[in-house]
Amino acid sequence: MMFFSTRDAEKKLFKASEVIKQGLASDGGLFVPDSIPSLSLDEIKALADKSYPEKAATILSKFLSDYTYEELLEDATAAYSPAGFPDGAAPLKKVRDGLYSLELWRGPTAAFKDMALQIMPRLLSRALVKTGEENTALILVATSGDTGKAALEGHKDIDKVKIMVFYPVDGVSKVQKLQMVTQTGSNVNVCAIKGNFDDAQTGVKKIFSDPEAKAKLLENGYVLSSANSINWGRLAPQIVYYFHSYCELLKNGEIELGEAINVCVPTGNFGNIFAAYIAKMMGLPIDKMVCASNSNNVLTDFIESGVYDRNRSFHLTMSPSMDILISSNLERLLYFTAGTEATSAYMKQLSECGRYEVSEDVKETIRSNFAGYCADETETAKTLKRFYENGYLADTHTSVALCCADKYLVDTNDNKKMVVVSTASPYKFAADVYKSITTTDAPDGTAALDALRDLTGMEISYPLRDLDKRTVNFDTVVDKEQMLEEVYKFM
Ligand SMILES: *Cc1c(COP(=O)(O)O)cnc(C)c1O
Repeated sequence: MMFFSTRDAEKKLFKASEVIKQGLASDGGLFVPDSIPSLSLDEIKALADKSYPEKAATILSKFLSDYTYEELLEDATAAYSPAGFPDGAAPLKKVRDGLYSLELWRGPTAAFKDMALQIMPRLLSRALVKTGEENTALILVATSGDTGKAALEGHKDIDKVKIMVFYPVDGVSKVQKLQMVTQTGSNVNVCAIKGNFDDAQTGVKKIFSDPEAKAKLLENGYVLSSANSINWGRLAPQIVYYFHSYCELLKNGEIELGEAINVCVPTGNFGNIFAAYIAKMMGLPIDKMVCASNSNNVLTDFIESGVYDRNRSFHLTMSPSMDILISSNLERLLYFTAGTEATSAYMKQLSECGRYEVSEDVKETIRSNFAGYCADETETAKTLKRFYENGYLADTHTSVALCCADKYLVDTNDNKKMVVVSTASPYKFAADVYKSITTTDAPDGTAALDALRDLTGMEISYPLRDLDKRTVNFDTVVDKEQMLEEVYKFM
């Protein structure tokens, strides 16, 4: 299996290890596989008896053909270990008849990013060896909260890799800050900057494009790398849990082998839902993928009309991981439905005018696979409360998806089994969850977690317990102009 860029008409080929090391293609496009492997129904049935790491190794080996099955199994076993995922990697909960929640937040940072970021650094570490890279990869991350912690936890103590995370000093929640500054590991660093998230991101981008910095780092044995969500190494592990959820439904007698299901995914950058589309192309019986958005509903409009238009107001919502107006991974879907030439043209229009319109047949292909729905803040809060009162506690992102799944059901009467993808622990967004249920404000900081526990009786997710009692390992705060200096100090 080889890969090429979504924007390269010549289709220059790269190995998986090169693709994982490089992240983004040099023409700005995203790497895609040159073919889609398939699994027969019998192979899917056989997977149902395997452990999660075995499922992961089986599926990943079809894409990462320059990694052996044994290497992938070793990495998946370490990534999805009972120490990190004490309740299993991706438990499937029955919410009500025909509706299930695939809980992807049972890992070490209580957010779905762990599903990819626990294994990707291991794949990267091997990629460095496979490509003959002698330097250490230095990962720089600018974060507005959740990704930073998941990246730190995923890269900690991994060979040939170091990671440094920058966050805006007043731009993350108290809980998010505590999670990051109490990080452990011999190869990690965390630094607050005086500024907002954009300042942090601009600062990181500046370092990436600074030839002098690059040379100095190289002299000292470092190459820069990113843990970006468009890296194929982050996308591929996300395909696995769709197969896993289907296997769980089979094993529990909820479906017959071959029976089609629907999935509903709370969407931001379009990575998670795109992984479902790949699973479908590989032969997993998925009929519709419901793309769930919050008030930043650029994707809902796109699926409805074929027009992608980011020229609209940006809303800060209580599902912040979905507050996105440019969904980078959509480029991969465009490639698979419209081809290289059209994709390059759409992306050019997007960067020049913030808007593009796909052709009628591309729109039809997309609409035959996807349905777009959105939930505003009031609908999200009401849905969260309604499901809680019926016995299921969901976070705010998952509640957007639950609301959209129900809207889809009302609109279509499509009564196939529906798997809603649950992307964060309710405790990760404790204050908004508490407020949605009680309609009163929760106490500040970590007290909100205790208040939610007292209200619901549900145990606090283990990574979020006793946060304020842990040792603070990082207290550096610098001006945004000093970021590079901090990187040099770390190296
Ligand atoms: C990242 C994230 C999402 C969005 O996933 P995409 O792959 O970017 O679409 C949804 N919910 C939570 C909690 C997330 O952290």
